[in-house]
Amino acid sequence: FFKQTTAYEISACLVGSEMCIRDRDSTNQRQILHNLSGIVSHLKVLGSYPTDSTIHIPITEPTQHRRMGIIGFGNFGQFVAKFFSKYFQISVTSRTDYTQLANSYGYDFYPNMADLITSGVDYVVICVSISSFQTVVTKLVKTGLLTNQLVIDMLSVKEYPYQILLDTVPNGCDILLTHPMFGPDSCQDANWSGQPMVYYPVRITNSERLTYFLSILHQCQLTKMMPSTHDKITARSQCISHFVGRSLSKLGLSTSQIDTLSYQKLCHVTQVTQNDSQDLFHGLINYNQYAKPIIRNFVQGVSQTLDSLDTTQP
Ligand code: NAP
Repeated sequence: FFKQTTAYEISACLVGSEMCIRDRDSTNQRQILHNLSGIVSHLKVLGSYPTDSTIHIPITEPTQHRRMGIIGFGNFGQFVAKFFSKYFQISVTSRTDYTQLANSYGYDFYPNMADLITSGVDYVVICVSISSFQTVVTKLVKTGLLTNQLVIDMLSVKEYPYQILLDTVPNGCDILLTHPMFGPDSCQDANWSGQPMVYYPVRITNSERLTYFLSILHQCQLTKMMPSTHDKITARSQCISHFVGRSLSKLGLSTSQIDTLSYQKLCHVTQVTQNDSQDLFHGLINYNQYAKPIIRNFVQGVSQTLDSLDTTQP
């Protein structure tokens, strides 16, 4: 048994370690566990004691094979399926018929949401475009088959799905919001280790199921965040970078042998944001109430910078 401070003192000469720690959810503790797992040949966390004194359930392997249903098998849905197939039996449905592609990965493809839910999935992950989210959730609820599943959204905005899920998903179901701050372009080998990920439990009755799901996501750099905080932050980060990338693409940037590092980074942003769909770009901006005011400030800043070239004395 080690207390939090003792955990810092574990040295590389150890061949293995089993311990209980306080507040495994903190960034520091996760970093310590990550470093420790790199230097010892055996590491087992027996339990953890968070700062609010509620004892966490130790991470356990699933007692039965768990089934995950993914709704929306587009660019991002395929990326999500690839990662979670290490932990779940995957079933998918989508507007388009992806039977062949899904089967080639060993996933079951269902032509509609009712069949997907009836197949017995316990985790329902929604990966459709932001603009179709409300329609898709309404259809899903109308199947009448949502009874006690964990419904997880992965939209790039968070206030919007929060309200829709809270208003429509039946009380017997649990709701978890997530946003992986990465995608197929920035994380090509489906290794989510260390990648930033936001989550927010909206309504949870089955804590064991949530704990298992979060134990998988703990390999990411996981941050619990209110939907409004998420949207305020991403309006200034993700929305601006997508807006700049889309705008720069209109210039038709090209590369040369004498490109500066800054210019190479700009080209990278332009390229990466072009790979995302127009739907995603529109959703990011139009379904985040903080995005357009920030973009207007940015455009005003561009205009002021341009004006300053005429007014600034050398
Ligand atoms: P997207 O263009 O935002 O969404 C494409 C997906 O939405 C496809 O599965 C598509 O189904 C489905 N879809 C579109 N319109 C639909 C409609 N009217 N009815 C039913 N389904 C519809 O591109 P994406 O990159 O795959 O993103 C999916 C979701 O993941 C978005 O909510 C996005 O915010 C989130 N996300 C994306 C990334 C990323 O890096 N791409 C990262 C984090 C989160 P079909 O393929 O069957 O047409």
